[in-house]
Amino acid sequence: MSATIFDVHARMILDSRGNPTVEVEVVTEDGVVGRASVPSGASTGTHEAVELRDGDKARWLGKGVDSAVNNVVVALAGHLVGLDATDQRAIDRLLIDVDGSPNKKNLGANAILGCSLAVARAAALSLDLPLYRYIGGTNACVLPVPLMNVLNGGAHADNGLDIQEFMLVPAGFERFSDALRCGTEVYHALRAVLKTRGLSTAVGDEGGFAPRLEQDTEALDLLLHAIEKAGYKPGKQVFLALDVAASGFWDEGAGAYRLRNREGVVSSAEMIEFYVGLADRYPLVILEDGLAEDDWAGWTALQARLGERIQLVGDDLFVTNSERIRRGFREQAANAVLIKVNQIGTLTETLDAITLAHRHGWRTVVSHRSGETEDTSIADLAVAAGTGLIKTGAPCRTERIAKYNQLLRIEEELGDAARFAGPSALSR
Ligand code: PGA
Ligand code: ZN
Repeated sequence: MSATIFDVHARMILDSRGNPTVEVEVVTEDGVVGRASVPSGASTGTHEAVELRDGDKARWLGKGVDSAVNNVVVALAGHLVGLDATDQRAIDRLLIDVDGSPNKKNLGANAILGCSLAVARAAALSLDLPLYRYIGGTNACVLPVPLMNVLNGGAHADNGLDIQEFMLVPAGFERFSDALRCGTEVYHALRAVLKTRGLSTAVGDEGGFAPRLEQDTEALDLLLHAIEKAGYKPGKQVFLALDVAASGFWDEGAGAYRLRNREGVVSSAEMIEFYVGLADRYPLVILEDGLAEDDWAGWTALQARLGERIQLVGDDLFVTNSERIRRGFREQAANAVLIKVNQIGTLTETLDAITLAHRHGWRTVVSHRSGETEDTSIADLAVAAGTGLIKTGAPCRTERIAKYNQLLRIEEELGDAARFAGPSALSR
């Protein structure tokens, strides 16, 4: 039996938005097939690794991935065949070197990530280990608190809300499955509340609702109401998290922010005071991308003002890039990092970013993208790396549910050895 790579195959498949994406299969000599597919963002950070798209407007509206698929088959497969699939670090290093650019623009981060994750899958299968145990080792036992995006605004909706994601954080439970049940019951209660008020219950890309609301605080009040209606205690069992995605309303020329409901521009300092007000009024525990991806001075001020009270998570700010995370340490710009595998493009670099953040006492949140597939690797990754937090959408739409269901399976498999991160995951 051998985990030596025998063949590498790639194809185009569709993601949850009906856009093309890359799927890779790595076959080993002992006959296992490791398969992985690649997610895709909509509110992508400008510093992310490059997602290669064909750009031929006549096909797939320019979003085809034939070139990325071709890069796997022609440029990368030949390098991978004959290598040991368990040699993940060396393989990822090789993928990076064959691309040869700092941001994977030559072969595409989508081509490279597909290979990287499929290699890990193949290795795990060859060793007959679950993926979380193969990546995380024998001590990987912590199930993450789910951050469930149930209400949308910003670039993910056409209502009056500036904030992109309003999330439930069911942390006050003993087990992941109880937390998931709570978040799901609150989601259903929220649907009922919206219906009674004559608001839309149609769902967005991540399964959250996008009702026509005018004020961000209205959305937060609705969540509190739904939590109570479902029979849970806000601030004790269920907390709130926001992804502002503030890069989306940064005005570069003005060096300030432009909000939907306000004339003129808003400074970083005013944004920070707005968040302080929200933290005073609501059981807010996590604030993601409260400021824009290059507003470093603003982030440092935000961390100084709120960093002792809540988790300040950098998504577009850090893009899972260890260089940018190190700058974050130097400038004390945040206290947590969002982790998206396709922002950086290999499993090794993803794990390095998590380890780096943890060593510095920062928290990490493993995250999906708004465009997803049935691939559930991020569920295993969250357990493997012991992040204690995962962000993978509302309990709705199969590509989101697939990750939650995988966590249920892992919890069952671990049995008494399973631990739920619980409220400890919310510490700074
Ligand atoms: P994206 O959004 O996947 O569309 O980039 C999610 C996020 O901003 O966290
Ligand atoms: Zn984000």
